[in-house]
Amino acid sequence: MEFTEPAMRPPQEAQSLLLRATQGCTYNRCRFCYVSRGYPFMAVTPEQLEQEVLACKPFFDDQISIYLIGSNPFALPVRTLEGYLAVLRRYLPRFTRVSMQSRIDDIACKSAQELRKLCGLGLSHLYIGTENGNDAVLRLMDKGYAAADAVKQLLRLDEAGITYTTFYILGMGGKGAGIASGEATARMFNQVHPQRITTTGLTVFPHTPLADMAGRGEFTEASEREKIEELRVFLQTLNIDTFYDGVHYLNPLSYRFANSDAAAKRRVLEDIDETLRSCTDEELEKMVSRQFMDSL
Ligand code: SF4
Repeated sequence: MEFTEPAMRPPQEAQSLLLRATQGCTYNRCRFCYVSRGYPFMAVTPEQLEQEVLACKPFFDDQISIYLIGSNPFALPVRTLEGYLAVLRRYLPRFTRVSMQSRIDDIACKSAQELRKLCGLGLSHLYIGTENGNDAVLRLMDKGYAAADAVKQLLRLDEAGITYTTFYILGMGGKGAGIASGEATARMFNQVHPQRITTTGLTVFPHTPLADMAGRGEFTEASEREKIEELRVFLQTLNIDTFYDGVHYLNPLSYRFANSDAAAKRRVLEDIDETLRSCTDEELEKMVSRQFMDSL
């Protein structure tokens, strides 16, 4: 079977060597998700990865960061991941790191020893769709785990030396859930050590279970004002040394700063307050276009 899912990568991996590892998602149930729906889960063989590396190698420096494409390649058995890492080390021995996406439960099914081993082989960073720290919202979207599970598994990554970027979806709980979600998500992250937290505003993509729920009146989207209020309470509650990266076309307001930089954070919070004070609801709604997604 051929790999037909379009390749996607986090914005932070724009300079990395991108190599396909998987298509599809082993879980495929998150109600808001449009990404891997319709693509059967498949993984490349080490031989296919080798072919990919050989094709790309002439165009990249040896000291390159590598991103393995896929919704959750970390679900693969440790032996498969070790096979990939062996190929990468053979042809790009000076790579600086390998990263990929993972679900929380993909971490849970690996032992501490396995996590340390993978880190030692170069798989030293994961991108994780934690999405939200509010258990009611996680259940609503059928994420398949609770905030406490996320904390437990992220602490295991800390112990193994694997760094991670976490994703947070503003407005995921819909109308009325913003403040509770902002507080709960910050409290969840305050217990762990994400290198970077990125945010996007929830968009109801067509052809998803969430779009069906919205059509039946079972889900009402949060306004852009509520998403901004959620961001404000999230940032006010977040107290760890991490980097906040909210520069994304689906965010009503985009900021990027080190959370330990008190002056930068104060300026951001002042800007949020000023925006909420000075803009009408109509003006805020125009800050993000979510309509063009209907063509998907
Ligand atoms: S785990 Fe990620 S890719 Fe899989 S269904 Fe959920 S959001 Fe989509």
